[in-house]
Amino acid sequence: MTHLSVRALETIGAAGYTDEEWARAAGWTDGLWRGDECGCDDDRCVGHHHETSEECGCLPILLDHIAQNREAYELWRDYRAAVEANDGRGDPKGYDAAWSRAEAWVRRHHPQALTFSLDAVVNGMRGISATYAGVDPGFVGTTPEPESPGHYRQQLWTEGVDQYGRQQALAAKADERPEALGRAGR
Ligand SMILES: [Zn+2]
Ligand SMILES: [Zn+2]
Repeated sequence: MTHLSVRALETIGAAGYTDEEWARAAGWTDGLWRGDECGCDDDRCVGHHHETSEECGCLPILLDHIAQNREAYELWRDYRAAVEANDGRGDPKGYDAAWSRAEAWVRRHHPQALTFSLDAVVNGMRGISATYAGVDPGFVGTTPEPESPGHYRQQLWTEGVDQYGRQQALAAKADERPEALGRAGR
């Protein structure tokens, strides 16, 4: 087990996380840090991802990625609550509010998206998705848009992940090497 540096603790603390929460966000459910002292979840970051004398470039990316996931998690929770409110008749105000937040989230974090949806199901996954111009790249989270040729839909956030963007079913494994945490964005 490694210790987070004072600098890393300051950065993580300023973003609103304790060291334990940061370890949990990286997938270590016992809250013990096993990444590098700079705050990166890879235990060989200093001297590999950046020089010893340099600031860690991974940490801000990880922080941003987690903040993004947390926003999505919260807006989705409110969206589902609005859909299920009043014995399933729904709460139109809450529903509209969730869509507005989703729109802001997509614009901010996925500026290339053309349209977005909370209702579209992508390859059996519910969540936040968006359409893009181009040919479907054929990834797990993409699907062609039959009604608008030359466009495809991409899943941006999926129901069933926790506030850190980790699959809830996998979160029970304390020692598993985290793969997700921000990697997709690099
Ligand atoms: Zn790193
Ligand atoms: Zn680093």
